[in-house]
Amino acid sequence: MCVEKTPWEQVIDFHGHTCPDIAVGFRVAQIAQRELGIRPALDAELIVRAETYSCALDAFQVLNKATLGRGTLQVEEKGKHVYIFHYTGTENILRIAVKGEILGHITPPESFTSPRQKQNWSLENIQYVLGSSEADFCTLQKGIGSTTKPSYPSHWATCRICGEAVSQSYAQIEGDNVICSTCVG
Ligand SMILES: [Zn+2]
Ligand SMILES: [Zn+2]
Repeated sequence: MCVEKTPWEQVIDFHGHTCPDIAVGFRVAQIAQRELGIRPALDAELIVRAETYSCALDAFQVLNKATLGRGTLQVEEKGKHVYIFHYTGTENILRIAVKGEILGHITPPESFTSPRQKQNWSLENIQYVLGSSEADFCTLQKGIGSTTKPSYPSHWATCRICGEAVSQSYAQIEGDNVICSTCVG
């Protein structure tokens, strides 16, 4: 018999381990799905803009189908667990900010005495994240705004020094003299 994986199992499979941060992402992603409802148009893409790098990002790649490769998952490092969700073609923005008490609680200790202690700590904190009330977990804001997808380079040049192809927008170009940023040093 083939039993379909739960969303949590899918996220953990993709992420590669269980940790409190992926639980944060899982919860944020599910709240966003509920708030945004169904895709407003066939070609609408969900953009997720995160304000910090963490394990949480992988939940959006699985549950919201926002990926780094397509540019629909974007990270602007501001050191904040703030997540902005936006369907292209609409003007509705959803902003989710994870509360400081949650983040303080799931900060790991300096060290663990054993792998078992680490595992117990992790499980306890995952339960804490998933079991907290939504009012304790985050603040939700809805507003008007938009996001854009980054445009990918389409014009290529060849670096004079290493001979490798480099996007023109990332190279130093003076006349025929093209130098990639690696070779500029
Ligand atoms: Zn993790
Ligand atoms: Zn080069």
